[in-house]
Amino acid sequence: MIENTLILIKPDGVQRGLIGEIINRFEKVGLKIIGMKMIWIDKEFARKHYKEHVEKAFYPGLEAMITEGPVISMVLEGVDAVELTRKIVGSTEPKNATPGTIRGDYAHISYGHADEKGIGIKNLVHASATKEESKEEIKLWFKENEMYDYKNVNEIHIR
Ligand code: AMP
Repeated sequence: MIENTLILIKPDGVQRGLIGEIINRFEKVGLKIIGMKMIWIDKEFARKHYKEHVEKAFYPGLEAMITEGPVISMVLEGVDAVELTRKIVGSTEPKNATPGTIRGDYAHISYGHADEKGIGIKNLVHASATKEESKEEIKLWFKENEMYDYKNVNEIHIR
């Protein structure tokens, strides 16, 4: 099933110079980038993106983290892209993320540490969790004319 999904390289990933490394992980498996831009979101936009977390105790730290610098937002297309990108990204808590995943290879912080410090857990990447969420998030982050229809070589290989 060909799906589209939203990926963000969060401010910590941008600040650490990991944009190329992170994009490379997705490109290497054959996912197609159909939209991409750099954007520095404000608090109002953060509340829309993280609407299910706004009432949670960790939200102030999460909001500060996602608005502290620009992010790279991308729409990726591929077979079961939502599930596949979550696998490539790894567990939300870097401490528990498996080596080989983006978070497992480049981060190590625990929920306990983040909550004690009142900071959003820095885990480099956001990936839509479900197909429904991916549709909503793509609509929030991208206009129709910011996504492109083109063929890449991987499509020829999986046809
Ligand atoms: P999710 O929608 O599950 O990706 O969660 C949103 C983001 O909130 C995560 O990627 C983390 O950066 C952050 N987060 C989730 N739970 C916590 C927590 N207990 N403490 C601090 N930050 C958290």
